[in-house]
Amino acid sequence: MNPDATTSVITSPVPVWLDWVLSNTPSGLLLLDAQSRIVFANKWFLTRARVFTNQITGHKLLDVFPVLGDGHFERALERAIRSGFPALLSQTLHPSPFPLYSPAAPRANESLLRQSIHIVPMGPADTAEAGQRFTLIQISDVSPTVTRERLLKAQADRMSDLVHLDALTGIGNRRFFDESIAAEMRAASRAGTSMGLVMLDIDQFKQFNDLYGHPAGDTCLQAVAGVLEAVCRRPRDLIARYGGEELVVILPDTDEVGTIQVARDILQRIRDLAIAHKNNFGRPIVTLSAGVSAGAVQAQDLPASLIRQADQALYAAKNAGRDRVFCFDVGRQVAVPV
Ligand code: GH3
Ligand code: MG
Ligand code: MG
Repeated sequence: MNPDATTSVITSPVPVWLDWVLSNTPSGLLLLDAQSRIVFANKWFLTRARVFTNQITGHKLLDVFPVLGDGHFERALERAIRSGFPALLSQTLHPSPFPLYSPAAPRANESLLRQSIHIVPMGPADTAEAGQRFTLIQISDVSPTVTRERLLKAQADRMSDLVHLDALTGIGNRRFFDESIAAEMRAASRAGTSMGLVMLDIDQFKQFNDLYGHPAGDTCLQAVAGVLEAVCRRPRDLIARYGGEELVVILPDTDEVGTIQVARDILQRIRDLAIAHKNNFGRPIVTLSAGVSAGAVQAQDLPASLIRQADQALYAAKNAGRDRVFCFDVGRQVAVPV
C-alpha cells in the first residue's frame, strides 16, 4: 500500500450496502489513521458517545475523548500500533474506558456502558510502512452479560445459604459443620495453632416439648442459637446445629482455657434467659450441658476423633447432673468437670 492508496481508501465513497451494514452493526466501530485521527465512526458508536460525525472526524482520538489518555487504553493503543498485534482490554480491570451511555437510559441516572474493547492494527506489518497503517477499534456493550453474571452470583450465594443454613435457627446446619470442622482442622494443623470444639445439648428438652408444646420448643431452640451467636463473636468462630437440640461451636485459634470460658459463658447466658421449665431435674428454667475438646491439632487428627471427645465430655456432663461443662482430658483420655 502506498500513501496515495491510503488517501484513496479514506476518501473513496462507501457503497450503500456497506454503509447499511456499518450503520446496523450491533457494536461500536472506530477507524483511526496512523496519527490516531478518527477516520470513521459507525452509528452505534456515535449514538452512545452522543456526538456527531463532523464533531470527531479528522480529530485525534485523545483530543475528542481526553479520558482515554488517563492510562491503560492509551498504552494498549500505542502497543498495538507499534507491534502490529491486536490488543484486548480486560473488561474486569477497565470496565468503561469510553464515555458511552445506553441510548435508551433516562439521562437522570445514567451509568457508563461496560465495554469489551478490541484494538486491531490494520495494513502493512512492516514498520517502515507504518505510516499507512489504520487501527480499528471494536467496542461491544457487555453490560447485559455483567448484569446476568451478577444475578447468577447472587443466586449461587442464595443457594449456598440454603444448603448450609438451618431453616429453624438460621445458624449453620450439619453439612456446614462437617465442611467447616475439616477445613478448620487443616488450617490449625498447618498454622500450628490450637482449636476448640464445644458440643451443647438442651437439658430435658423432650420434657420441655411435652410440657409447653413443640412450637414453644422451636422458639426455645431459636433463643439458644441466639445466645451462641451473641457469645461467639470472633469473625472466625463458627456455630451450627449438629442435629435435634444439639448445637456445636468451633473456635479456631483458641486453647482449652479459652474454649472452656466460652462454654461457661453460653451456659450462664442461657440461665440468665430464665426460660421457664417446670420439669428439669428440680431447676425451674431451661439449662444446657456442654462438652469441650480443645488443643493443638496434628495433621493426622480426624474430625471424627475431635467430635467423639467433645461428645464423650457432653455425655459425662449429662451423667454428672446436667447444667455444667466437662472437658476431655487427652492425656488421661477421660472427661473431667471444669
Ligand atoms: P437430656 O437432658 O438427656 O438431653 O434429655 P433430652 O430430653 O433433652 O434428650 P433427648 O435426646 O432424649 O431428647 C431430645 C428432644 O429434643 C427430642 C425432641 O423432642 C426434641 N427436639 C429435637 N429437635 C427438635 C426441634 O427441632 N424442635 C423441637 N421443638 N424439639 C426438638
Ligand atoms: Mg437434650
Ligand atoms: Mg440430645
